[in-house]
Amino acid sequence: MTDGPPIEHRPRQTPLTVFAVAVLAVAIGAAALAISIYLDLERAVTTPRENIQWAAYQIQAEHMRLMLAARDAEAGRIDVDAIDQRYQIFVSRVLILRDGDAYAAMHSIPGYEAMLTRAVDLIPVVDAAIAGGGQDARAYADIVQHHLGALTEPMQQVALKAVSTASREQTEQQLQLRDTVFYLVVSLIVIVAAAIGLAGVTMKQFAALDTGRRDLSVALWRAEESSRAKSRFLAGMSHEMRTPLNAVIGMLREINYRTSDNGIHRLAGIAHASADMLCGLVDDVLDTTRIETGKFRFHNVTFDPAVLVEEVTSVLASRAEDRGNTVAVEIEAPAGRYVTTDRARLKQVLVNLLGNAIKYTADGTITLRASVAPGADDTTLLRVMVADTGIGIPADQHERIFGRFFQAGTNDGLGLGLSITREIIERLGGRIGVDSTPGEGSTFWFEVPVAVSDTAPKPAADPRVRDRLAGVRLLLAEDNATNRQVIRLLLERQGAAFDFALNGEQAVAMALADAYDLILMDINMPVMDGLQALAEIQRRSGRSAPPVVALTADALAEDHERFRAAGMVACVTKPIDETELLATIATVLRRPDIVSGDGIALPPAVPPRAEAQLTSGQREAVLSLISALHDEEDEP
Ligand code: ADP
Repeated sequence: MTDGPPIEHRPRQTPLTVFAVAVLAVAIGAAALAISIYLDLERAVTTPRENIQWAAYQIQAEHMRLMLAARDAEAGRIDVDAIDQRYQIFVSRVLILRDGDAYAAMHSIPGYEAMLTRAVDLIPVVDAAIAGGGQDARAYADIVQHHLGALTEPMQQVALKAVSTASREQTEQQLQLRDTVFYLVVSLIVIVAAAIGLAGVTMKQFAALDTGRRDLSVALWRAEESSRAKSRFLAGMSHEMRTPLNAVIGMLREINYRTSDNGIHRLAGIAHASADMLCGLVDDVLDTTRIETGKFRFHNVTFDPAVLVEEVTSVLASRAEDRGNTVAVEIEAPAGRYVTTDRARLKQVLVNLLGNAIKYTADGTITLRASVAPGADDTTLLRVMVADTGIGIPADQHERIFGRFFQAGTNDGLGLGLSITREIIERLGGRIGVDSTPGEGSTFWFEVPVAVSDTAPKPAADPRVRDRLAGVRLLLAEDNATNRQVIRLLLERQGAAFDFALNGEQAVAMALADAYDLILMDINMPVMDGLQALAEIQRRSGRSAPPVVALTADALAEDHERFRAAGMVACVTKPIDETELLATIATVLRRPDIVSGDGIALPPAVPPRAEAQLTSGQREAVLSLISALHDEEDEP
């Protein structure tokens, strides 16, 4: 995946939250102000301010009416009952004022209390005087004027004070209300401004979120596209690398078979080891892609672990020797000679651990110890330990070296081996670890559960045995001259009768014209590719079409599935493994004898060393054949 810029439009939550909290606080403040205004108004309504004035006015008015009535009585205009009625009204007004609600409000008026007390105190005096001599209107009027006339002045004063007090209180209340309303208005302005701001910020954040979401989906799409592109690139790269590797490894194998010169043997061996290493790197990259895409497949077989260890150590022996290392192997297998697990994956693990031990050790000792012994809960464990006396690994890197692309201070390799190794061990149900001290060496160990038995598995085909394909008629469609040559040598050695087609179109024509037992079809060819040719052959030959095996450098399992879905009966991956090709042909043609050897008169197996007896003339012929291969163009 390419490194993209970090997504900038990331929504930031904190300012929005702070803003919202601030607006909420202002709104609560405004609500409190509104409530206080309501309470003020309520108080203003219920406060008997007008009552104060009204009560002061009423008592003054009643007093004045009483005085006027006294004057009228004096002048003989009203009788005693009329003035008595006025007096009683005045008395009841005084008592109401003393006992009623207005008293509490009125007592703040200066002189009020004194006036009222005086009036209240005068009532029994007046009553007694009236009872004593107020039988006619004139006498009644005298008594009233005598006792109550003096109240005129204080009552006027109180009435005036009541008016001024009420108006002052009203003014104060209005000022207070005005201030509160002012604060309320300010708060409302703040709230409205904040709400507008909040809406703006929210919209901005929504826009940012939307942009972020779009950025994310674009980034996701790019990441997926880049991952797809990576897989396509890796598949393409593996194809491109495996095609020449196919040729290199095939040619080196042929050199080994044909030459008797130990020097050439050795050179070819080194070249073979290098090509194998290159193949290993390509496989590591492919395995990493397979792990990423969940297509890392496993296949269990029964095998002898001692043979596997022997195979791995012999493959790496020359590399160990070149670095001055001694490799010691110790094998204990008391629990059964043969084990069942994924042999190929286990080989990959052993090659990686032993390869690393050799790579990071110079002039030292490497010990490979393997044992098959009972583990916990009725399981049997294959335990392997690879110890070296090399550079060692600092403790803080013991875990990190199992990560992808990690290399501790070296850039020799891709840093993929141990991550694949751990994936394999864990997928096999086991565990892996390392103990190491810098400068002293490292011990990598792993254990995987295995099934054990003492029954030997069926032997694999020995590629050194010849003429296994005698009597088999094959058509090989392959556009690459070097590949044709590699397969030609193999098929010749196995005694097959075969023809070559240089592209799909030729393959179709030849398949229709002749009867072949089997067609080996390359996928990528000019003019008409392998899949088109297969479809054409099946369309035109119907049921009599021979089985077609895909011969491909595409190593990804999904490609193989695609080829099978298109009608290929099997897939063989380049560089071609002779045993695999023979086993595939045997399976497709239902001829187990091809690999088991039964029913075929096989010449005795000839190990490469025995071929060292070639004459110098023969050797020259082989060498000229090899150099001719380089010049060969598109000829069968
Ligand atoms: P590489 O291809 O770099 O060897 P690996 O994944 O196999 O990748 O190993 C990761 C790193 O672990 C190496 O780069 C090396 O630093 C360290 N390492 C692995 N095996 C050993 C060992 N036997 N001795 C010292 N260091 C090792």
